[in-house]
Amino acid sequence: MGKKLTIGHLYPDLLNLYGDRGNIQCMVKRLEWRGFEAEVKEYQLEDAIDFGELDIVLMGGGSDREQMIVCSKLKEIQKDFKAYVEDGGVVLAVCGGYQLLGKYYQTDDGMITGLELVDLYTEQKPGRLIDNIVIQSELFEMPVVGFENHGGRTFIGENKPLGKVLYGSGNTGESGYEGVVYKNVIGTYIHGPLLPKNPQLCDYLLGKALERKYGEGVVLEPLNDTQEKEANEYIYQRFVKK
Ligand code: GLN
Repeated sequence: MGKKLTIGHLYPDLLNLYGDRGNIQCMVKRLEWRGFEAEVKEYQLEDAIDFGELDIVLMGGGSDREQMIVCSKLKEIQKDFKAYVEDGGVVLAVCGGYQLLGKYYQTDDGMITGLELVDLYTEQKPGRLIDNIVIQSELFEMPVVGFENHGGRTFIGENKPLGKVLYGSGNTGESGYEGVVYKNVIGTYIHGPLLPKNPQLCDYLLGKALERKYGEGVVLEPLNDTQEKEANEYIYQRFVKK
């Protein structure tokens, strides 16, 4: 039997801004290119989720209105989702999904209660933070690049950020940091979609999930990422190294 990862996509009909679905396709392809199997399970709001059968969970971005709809469901899955995270389950949460990892997202139209998986919170402030973004993470040599568009400002307290902002706004537009890393959870404001533009981050998540499931011996063979690296370098040169 080949080695296989199961990816759970939470509420793709509601949380799927800027092609966040591309993150799933990227994970699947990068697994298959190395001879691993990949299965994707999509969950709609009415579906029960057995976190025990998942190796990676993805939550994409969404409008405030869609987040509000999703939030009503989160109470039901909170306990199992928390147990999954504490057990080292891998999670990628982008923008609206990132905000939902925390305690709450306070908007002008009301309070969106989050999952409380990571100790952070989000508040809406005047003006949206919209632009390209480039960050440098301690986890990778290559910068992480993408696009952000959010009205919420996320305060991560003592948690580790995903990276330092080289260009763009990030978590609050003022802190100089972007995203969060907690256990095997990555929260970030970066769309793009994130993973096709940042294969180093994709492999980081795949590596963590394979290690959790099969132990440390599993090797992710390097792939030919020449084009991805060129694209990343182009964005870096354009916005950072002027
Ligand atoms: N609705 C949230 C905000 O505006 C998240 C937006 C997004 O997912 N791009 O802050």
